[in-house]
Amino acid sequence: MLTSIEKDIRSSFPILHQKVNGNALVYFDNAATTQKPQEVINTLVDYYSQTNSNIHRGVHYLSQRATEQYEGARIKVQKHINAKGVQEVIFTMGTTDAINLVAQTWGRSNIGEGDVILISALEHHSNMVPWQMLAEEKGASIEVIPIHEDGSLDLTAYKELLQKGVKLVAVNHISNALGTINPVKHMTSMAHEHHALVLVDGAQATPHCPVDVQDLDADFYAFSGHKVYGPTGVGVLYGKEHLLDQMPPWRGGGEMISSVSYEKSTYNDLPFKFEAGTPNIAGGIGLGSALDFVNKVGLDYIAKQEDLLLKAASESLTAIDGLRIFGTSENKAGVVSFLVDGIHPYDLGTLLDQMGVAVRTGHHCAEPLMNHFKIPGTIRASFACYNTLEEVEVFVKALQRGLNMLR
Ligand code: PMP
Repeated sequence: MLTSIEKDIRSSFPILHQKVNGNALVYFDNAATTQKPQEVINTLVDYYSQTNSNIHRGVHYLSQRATEQYEGARIKVQKHINAKGVQEVIFTMGTTDAINLVAQTWGRSNIGEGDVILISALEHHSNMVPWQMLAEEKGASIEVIPIHEDGSLDLTAYKELLQKGVKLVAVNHISNALGTINPVKHMTSMAHEHHALVLVDGAQATPHCPVDVQDLDADFYAFSGHKVYGPTGVGVLYGKEHLLDQMPPWRGGGEMISSVSYEKSTYNDLPFKFEAGTPNIAGGIGLGSALDFVNKVGLDYIAKQEDLLLKAASESLTAIDGLRIFGTSENKAGVVSFLVDGIHPYDLGTLLDQMGVAVRTGHHCAEPLMNHFKIPGTIRASFACYNTLEEVEVFVKALQRGLNMLR
């Protein structure tokens, strides 16, 4: 039986009420992207049917209304992550884009030969490849914070690595592949003692727990709209104002300038300096509406519900013969990554899909982490606020049926 809160939340998500391959959909691929509540869908429809116009430079009614809504969304983001000011909130295309922005601006002007960029063994490719590209260009090197067997970061090794002339620590807040919640506040304070800056990849944390960038003291914090019940193609880079001020712009074009002659341009103030061209206006406004939804449901409720599902799923899966869970750290978000002896994740994933259960199989954009465990990939079930214990039961039963077919 669903609680009234569960019923209420689920009724906001039209996509959940459909059959897939003849079975009620169980959507457990939330770490890849979350579904969108009706509020967000309505915001997008309303924007395109009532407001659509280009922002910032129009004197007319629609342009001003679109600008107000877009800049209103920026204020919602600022409040949501407790940034000091709106000038610290830069709209990007997503987490990947935000990290590349830092690599290409702060990175290209601050990283030099012999410098060390410290990432963790848990990083998503998007918090790895931009730093590799930068390191290659500048003659810098990448060092990696190792993990313990349970998927938690080895903080003793981290402490030692910080002695090596580290300029930047780039670490995720929550691992998408294992669910580990990293102690980023503590890690940031350790990094600052060594005068290293810290970029936190918050793609998996913003949907799961409250984020206070001032409390974390992170220098940069990146996240994506689509993982926090918002639209795709929009995300956020938070940066401390004094750092963003010193950083050169990255992409050139309209909006990011203050004045332009044929020879030279001067650049706009923050945050517009980093927002060249017409942005994803509907996406930004949609993200604002997604944050309203998250605040209405409450991050405390969301974390509690996801933890409940994580515990139930982990307990049931642990009881299955030959099944191994990767990522068992005490501090963990709603992600269960697992493998079953002798069975390819893809085969099991396909059978689960036949039974209406959507999970992800593969390396989850964390190939080096899979290599560390000497596995090709895992099956990953990841939870969101609209998932229920009943769905966990359906998933576990489907898994057992699938295993019976494959064994
Ligand atoms: N970092 C983490 C931890 C992620 O889970 C993801 C998405 N799977 C990304 C970065 C990349 O996010 P996006 O594709 O939205 O840019």
